[in-house]
Amino acid sequence: MLGLIIFGTRGVTYGSEGGQFYCPDCDGEKAYRHRKVRRFFTLYFIPLIPLDLLGEYVECQSCTSTYKPSVLEFDPKGSEKREEAEFRVAMRRVLVLMLLADGVVDESEIAAIQSILGRLEDRTVERAEIEAEIAKAKAVPGDLAQYCKSMAGTLNDAGREMVVRAALLVATADGKFEESEKDALAKMATALNLSRAAYAGIVTSVLAEVPPQQPQAPAGPPN
Ligand SMILES: [Zn+2]
Repeated sequence: MLGLIIFGTRGVTYGSEGGQFYCPDCDGEKAYRHRKVRRFFTLYFIPLIPLDLLGEYVECQSCTSTYKPSVLEFDPKGSEKREEAEFRVAMRRVLVLMLLADGVVDESEIAAIQSILGRLEDRTVERAEIEAEIAKAKAVPGDLAQYCKSMAGTLNDAGREMVVRAALLVATADGKFEESEKDALAKMATALNLSRAAYAGIVTSVLAEVPPQQPQAPAGPPN
């Protein structure tokens, strides 16, 4: 007489491959296990024959959160660094284009760019670096507004406001806020999709900090 044969399938979790990864829940480097779930043919509840792969996931050994395997490719530090580098390149070019907006390379404007970039990058920025950037900017066709348009997508709101603010500081470094500079700055704000209110706010606050000098009366004939 035949006994009752009990067979079926069930998922079995296995996999001990692992390493270090960035766990989004822990917000840090943690150990992980790469797990796979495979369906097995079972006989008397014992998995005997491996069947199809049901899924796979990555499990954090610290908080036990589970993620899709693509989490292993996530490198927040790397993307942060890239964004920061992009922002610095953009800032440098925009400030130099702003310096060129009034057609005069002014000493006080060069000094303002050195100081702004120095604070941003926490180092001493040499005058020669600014001169090199001026030469590069002159060699590439395209103006400030065009350049801003091309970088509008890569900067967040704070980044865009920071760029306009810094450009205004450069524009007013020589004590004057000239029509050509006002024009360039307004076009820049539009190209960066900055709202009118945000733009007006920046102009008001910067001009309050560094009021441009009154235009000098033309020197009269010597007495
Ligand atoms: Zn975790």
